[in-house]
Amino acid sequence: MSSPEISVIIPTYNEEESLPELFERIFPVLDGLERPYEVIFVNDGSSDATLPLLLRERKRRSGKVKVVDFNGNFGQHMAIVAGFGRARGKMVVTLDADLQNPPEEIPRMVQYVDEGHDVVGTVRKERRDTFFRKTASRLVNRLTNRITGLSLHDYGCMLRAYRRDVVDIINESAETTTFIPALAQKFATNPVEIDVAHSPREKGQSKYGLFRLIRLNFDLMTGFSMAPLQAVTMSGILISVLSFLFAAFMFVRRLVVGPEAEGVFTLLAILFLLMGVTISCIGIQGEYVGRIYQEVRKRPRYVVRKVYDAEEEQSPQI
Ligand code: UDP
Ligand code: MG
Repeated sequence: MSSPEISVIIPTYNEEESLPELFERIFPVLDGLERPYEVIFVNDGSSDATLPLLLRERKRRSGKVKVVDFNGNFGQHMAIVAGFGRARGKMVVTLDADLQNPPEEIPRMVQYVDEGHDVVGTVRKERRDTFFRKTASRLVNRLTNRITGLSLHDYGCMLRAYRRDVVDIINESAETTTFIPALAQKFATNPVEIDVAHSPREKGQSKYGLFRLIRLNFDLMTGFSMAPLQAVTMSGILISVLSFLFAAFMFVRRLVVGPEAEGVFTLLAILFLLMGVTISCIGIQGEYVGRIYQEVRKRPRYVVRKVYDAEEEQSPQI
């Protein structure tokens, strides 16, 4: 078999309901490109029938499907990282398994890479998610651009294409917590962003609850910028200056008006506010320290139970 030109990476976590339709739609699209391709499914510790479904499809599409089976849930980005490490194509396309990213958009992405773009980013036109997620996402996109100095319009859309040189750089950046679109954007020399369609999730549930989304966004912000830490320092300086002025004012008042005991509640309010600020500042530092700790422990970022290779079967490995 000739080596594939296009590698498609699909992270799957409890997607048994979406997979049949995904198979039905994606393979005709890829066959239609008339170029050698491989599809790498990464099973991110699913507890439903995802793995057997993937393995059955692998048998059916001999030589074109690879399945990487994790021994636990390591998250969507780690699943993509594992796929990147095993992709052999000249370009890599990533997409979600839940059909929110229509596979029919892949040929357009490939075309942009052919035209010389090293990263093809996407913006979901008429995004079909809950109002809360859309609004939060808009705010986060803007804030992230501000903080990181990158410029992406839609960090969350995983339908993306990367050229081999960018894939190699991502493979070299062995970070424990990472955010693939931002990492690629950082190293891209000729990126492009295109509009793509987006569908509502028809089957199964989103794997991201509120706290998981918040954690993911902390990864994004701390992983690509020190601005939050600098904001802590700046606000510390600002509060110190203000407190100094306030103390000086109180001193003068004491001399002019004499001793006063009123305004206890105002004082309490100010105190609570400052305590809140202090605790969040410790929290921000903690976010960085925790990530440094994760990084220095050097535990494996994910553990592969087995790789069901396109050609041969391999023994379990880490
Ligand atoms: N996913 C994964 N591991 C996880 C969470 C999600 O591999 O821990 C996969 C999931 O199967 C899907 C994609 O990542 O293919 C996007 O997940 P989801 O649709 O739940 O996210 P949303 O569209 O709500 O952002
Ligand atoms: Mg989804």
